[in-house]
Amino acid sequence: LKLLKNMNNKITIALAGNPNCGKTTIFNYLTGSRQHVGNYSGVTVEKKEGLRKFREYNLVIVDLPGTYSLTAYSLEEVAARNYIVDEQPDVVIDIVDASNLERNLYLACQLMELGRPVIIALNMADVADTYGIKLNVSMLEAEMGVKLVRTIGSRKQGLEELLQAAVEAAKERTGLREFKIDYGKIIEEEIKKLVTRLEMLYCDPKYSKRWLALKLLENDSEIIRYINKLDFSDTVMEAVYEARSRIIKDLGDDPELIIADRRYQFVGDLYRKILLTEPKNQLTLSDKIDKVLTNRILAIPIFLTLMWSVFNLIFTIGAYPRECIIKGMKFLTSWLSEIMPVGELKLLIIDGIIGGVGNVISFLPSILLLFLVIALLEDSGYMARAAFIMDRIMQKAGLHGKSFIPLLLGFGCSVPAIMGARSLENPRDRIVTILVTPFMSCSAKIPIYTVLIGAFFSEQYAGSILFSLYLLGILLAVITARLFRSFLFKGDTEPFVMEMPPYRLPTATSICRHMWGRSVLYLQKAGTLILAMSILVWFATNYPANVQYSKDYNSLMVNIDRERASLEDGQSSELINEKKDELLRLKAGEKLAQSYAGQVGKAVEPLFKPVGFNWKIDVGLIAGISGKELLVSTLGTIYNMGETNKKVVELRGILSSDPDFNPLVAYSVMIFVLVYVPCIATLATIKRETGSWKWVFFNFCYSTCLAWLLSFAVYQGGLMLGIGRLIQ
Ligand code: GDP
Ligand code: MG
Repeated sequence: LKLLKNMNNKITIALAGNPNCGKTTIFNYLTGSRQHVGNYSGVTVEKKEGLRKFREYNLVIVDLPGTYSLTAYSLEEVAARNYIVDEQPDVVIDIVDASNLERNLYLACQLMELGRPVIIALNMADVADTYGIKLNVSMLEAEMGVKLVRTIGSRKQGLEELLQAAVEAAKERTGLREFKIDYGKIIEEEIKKLVTRLEMLYCDPKYSKRWLALKLLENDSEIIRYINKLDFSDTVMEAVYEARSRIIKDLGDDPELIIADRRYQFVGDLYRKILLTEPKNQLTLSDKIDKVLTNRILAIPIFLTLMWSVFNLIFTIGAYPRECIIKGMKFLTSWLSEIMPVGELKLLIIDGIIGGVGNVISFLPSILLLFLVIALLEDSGYMARAAFIMDRIMQKAGLHGKSFIPLLLGFGCSVPAIMGARSLENPRDRIVTILVTPFMSCSAKIPIYTVLIGAFFSEQYAGSILFSLYLLGILLAVITARLFRSFLFKGDTEPFVMEMPPYRLPTATSICRHMWGRSVLYLQKAGTLILAMSILVWFATNYPANVQYSKDYNSLMVNIDRERASLEDGQSSELINEKKDELLRLKAGEKLAQSYAGQVGKAVEPLFKPVGFNWKIDVGLIAGISGKELLVSTLGTIYNMGETNKKVVELRGILSSDPDFNPLVAYSVMIFVLVYVPCIATLATIKRETGSWKWVFFNFCYSTCLAWLLSFAVYQGGLMLGIGRLIQ
């Protein structure tokens, strides 16, 4: 990129447009990039850059966040606007949804008012055709003074022409272009007066004066802040104040409302002028589907049934490939134990690395399935409906309907989910959403759930237990949001305004891209963080090397071998083998208890005794702070210690034979894992998105205490009800 900055043939192109107009699809095709495409607003929250060679030009293409307008009300709008004003891209491609042109033109006008060269991509041309919409494109070009190109993003149609037009527009640019909407006599006069005032200040030439004046009249907080920083701003701000009062007096309403109104009027008139045939006014397939899926009574039951089936599916289907991976790992361990010389390295590789990393990798199929489901929900358009369906419930919880999307994404990973909360306009709504998102069961928690459920619950109940954990996470999010709303962040939530995209058949490429990206990330994590932590845990559990044993195990072993020599028949030999295994296990256990990890675990054990955890789980939970999957790999390493002679890599079997474990403990562990402090990556994202350590610290304490209390309630409650005794 640095190199490109120095090149002569560089052209910067910014892609702007309403949410869901196909911007990311086009960006991906143009740049060959793998940004995620989603069928609802708020997927693209950060600007993304990509490179493309076109003829002799080096294009830098930037995907701006989708917005309906360019006011200063939401982060996305400010981000998009600032990019265009500050970075001065050579050309802005406004991607509009041709099947929804009138509303899309509202943004187009505001983009053109910014003064950069603009061209328009009439995307979704196929959808417009099926709706029977016919437009007079050349008239639209003439009226707005802008070049239009028909495109069908999902089928790559018109993209070359679009680039051609963009390059032409960028090359022809002659200073700032003037695009004017007539805001009516009174406002135009005030704009003129303010422009004269502004000419007396030293403003950055990148702002057009007319635009600044307009924004000041609109009471735009960002621009007011900018002007206030300049010398002699007082006189201008005074003039703005007077101008606003005059408009309020003469026109009887706030200038920002009148200006928006005029803009809508302009767009409406323009649209009617260029519309050749009206859209057919019949129920679309989407409307018909929505009649059922968002039905007042059926919506929530359908939604819950869908989710319940999804979790059952993930559990049952995911089990098959996992079996294969585990078999492969078993094969690998037995092969390694044959070819490798006895020694520490062998133990490190078999127990530490394969036991740790291998266990985590075996969950890749389940995680892929989960991301498949999320991708399907997003791309089909159901996700936006789910947000709408849940809005009523969300509002009761003091959350916003839009908070639902970050929460749902939280099932995948909290990091993008928390970033997705940027689409919430109100800062209070945002912070509450960010703080409760980690309660969603993210994909890293799946390995833990699967191991424990598989070990302690019969297959018949497995799906329901899994579902109960997901449900509990949602409930906790809702309840805590309510509490935060009533005590920490008082005030109303914004009303729900979100576009319902039409249902679309998700494309295979988009889904594959999504899943591929996820698996690469997951495997990367397994290969780096989890590998490093597995080695660390292995050392912590195996050292110090010399420990004091309570018994002389070596001589006991020798005794047993002698006993075997004196007996010949097979049956008692079997018995002796078992005795020997038992001894080995005891020995390993003693060694582990005195290791560094054991010492740490023992130190915190009293804290976790009341919730039913032994110190091995405690060590796992501590390791799990750097990534939830680490709980599984850590337990894998710890429990594999005494078992190398059996070459067992599967954790499930070992756990179910540990006397410290039973279904009640397992459930208590799962609840703790669900609720306690989110992983480090999530904490870092919270810091970045809220801009303060305060919320990180708050989240840390709050979630860990809550986790302890809940596990305590479940465990002690279970004991009191006699569940524990029943099991024993
Ligand atoms: P963004 O929110 O503007 O980034 O929109 P996306 O790129 O995520 O696209 C939203 C959906 O519209 C995706 O399901 C795309 O496959 C689909 N899509 C994009 N362009 C077209 C098009 O020209 N025609 C049709 N029928 N679908 C499109
Ligand atoms: Mg997008």
